[in-house]
Amino acid sequence: MSQTALDNDLKSAIRTIPDYPKPGIMFRDITTLLGDARAFRRAVDELVQPWAGSKIDKVAGIEARGFILGGAVAHQVSAGFVPIRKKGKLPHKRVSVTYALEYGTDEIEIHADALVKGEKVVLVDDLIATGGTAEAAIKLLRQLGAQVLAACFVIDLPELGGAEKLRKLDVPVRTLVSFEGH
Ligand code: AMP
Repeated sequence: MSQTALDNDLKSAIRTIPDYPKPGIMFRDITTLLGDARAFRRAVDELVQPWAGSKIDKVAGIEARGFILGGAVAHQVSAGFVPIRKKGKLPHKRVSVTYALEYGTDEIEIHADALVKGEKVVLVDDLIATGGTAEAAIKLLRQLGAQVLAACFVIDLPELGGAEKLRKLDVPVRTLVSFEGH
């Protein structure tokens, strides 16, 4: 399937909710894509398609929508799954990183023993906007000695520059559909 056909197919399965969670934001809701068996399967297959022949040790998913997609991807490529969670949710010894939001800061965590040094990891989330969350996740993975093979997202908001930011960190980025604006 061509990139344009793929884009149209998946794009029509994503619902846009204007002014959620606050005025001016176009919320890209993937629950409609997840509920559509064909679109869900296609998104999971396509996310890691460039790395299909490579050995992937772990898939890391970012809370919460990255868990759904990342879990399915991990199963598909026969890799383990590693959750990256908001502060305070993981029960065992953790490594944390704080990152800047538009207003204030946020913190994400990973279990310190989630990975062994040198393991090949693919990062998965539903959407990349500014790339702040994914950049923080890459820091955590690298802190544990992971080799970050790629970062994969269903949706790119290219005007916000997140994919470019990750490429500057030497992480190949895979996105399936793009939307203009925020
Ligand atoms: P960022 O750190 O700016 O790249 O933001 C990415 C995170 O925020 C992802 O986990 C997304 O799920 C969420 N996010 C940001 N903008 C949107 C949007 N317009 N629609 C849905 N989710 C969004």
